[in-house]
Amino acid sequence: MAYKSGRHFLQIPGPTNVPDRILRAIDHPTMDHRGPEFGPMGLEIIDGLKHIFQTQQPVVIYPASGTGAWEAALVNSLSPGDKVLMVETGHFASLWQKMAAKFGLQVELIATDWRRGADPSALEARLKEDKAHAIKAVCVVHNETSTGATSRIGPIRKAIDAAGHPALFMVDTISSLASIDYRHDEWGVDVTVAGSQKGLMLPPGLSFNAVSEKARKAAQSAKLPRSYWAWEDMIAANKTGYFPYTPATNLLYGLHEAIKMLREEGLPQVFARHARHAEATRRAVRAWGLEILCANAEEYSNTLTAVMMPAGHDADALRRKILLAYDMSLGTGLGRLAGKVFRIGHLGDFNDLALMGTLAGVEMGLALSGVPHQQGGAQSALSYLTGDARAESAQSAAA
Ligand SMILES: *Cc1c(COP(=O)(O)O)cnc(C)c1O
Repeated sequence: MAYKSGRHFLQIPGPTNVPDRILRAIDHPTMDHRGPEFGPMGLEIIDGLKHIFQTQQPVVIYPASGTGAWEAALVNSLSPGDKVLMVETGHFASLWQKMAAKFGLQVELIATDWRRGADPSALEARLKEDKAHAIKAVCVVHNETSTGATSRIGPIRKAIDAAGHPALFMVDTISSLASIDYRHDEWGVDVTVAGSQKGLMLPPGLSFNAVSEKARKAAQSAKLPRSYWAWEDMIAANKTGYFPYTPATNLLYGLHEAIKMLREEGLPQVFARHARHAEATRRAVRAWGLEILCANAEEYSNTLTAVMMPAGHDADALRRKILLAYDMSLGTGLGRLAGKVFRIGHLGDFNDLALMGTLAGVEMGLALSGVPHQQGGAQSALSYLTGDARAESAQSAAA
């Protein structure tokens, strides 16, 4: 393959662009993970993660992709035959559900049209019916990466409480953590599942479980077999900053740096930045005359936007053209959305100009591919992004 000048735009909703600071941090000799330097670094990382998950509870780190952390959540806290209630918000929710079924869990599914988040009142109604408390866990994907819809975790917690139901609450935050506000403790989540390669700006290879006291208690009597994923072995070793088996040392160097960067910017600023870029993206999509897949404005995702293709046009053909012509990768349609949508990732290490490059690339690709659309989407985003600045300078000119 011939050299392509300039930076590749990796605008899929994970893995995301890895910033130079993190690449430089990873680029160090691997150290002895049982040596004296490791423990202090391990403690700093574990402490920093608590800040990111907004929790005081243990956060366990696995050398695994996000799928491993899904498995860890289930096998630590449940027993064969246990009933779990899941909401099929899209492709990722359905993968988690298939995994649960493979473990012999009895999965009950609340279906959706893949255009919205989990409905708190539907969950409340179902839990109220379950007077015998047969349901042992409620599992929800916070940000459904296949559709660009974000479920409202605070209201879902309230719904579980309103039903007076004792089920464990498990939430997948793989594409929302460190990009969209998420509060493990305040929202009473028992197991939060996360991964390294999206909001945390790292390469793939690390994943996480934040674990409540209630989940740890459930683990004491849970019967699903587990060894590699066992929380208690991890939590015991983590007390001094070490791990029960070889951790992904160089990825931990990267995580140490990522936490530093997120704290320098500040979590509220990180969340606001993602919200602003998401709004600019939606304005571009509307100006193109295309439809946003997420049908509920309250649940628009701040980390990605799934865009529906006009009938008779293939999203993957458009993506291929954009990759070839402009060296930008956009997300493909997953599962039943294959060919029907493309996804613009606007999360991780990202700024106004990177967003404008991304939206310009989409607009140029639409033109190049002969996809019916209106011009001016990128311009609408630009006007939105500069709106605050123009208002400010008008104000200071008037003063
Ligand atoms: C990316 C993603 C996953 C899968 O994680 P892997 O790291 O690919 O195993 C699961 N859930 C959501 C919501 C995701 O975005």
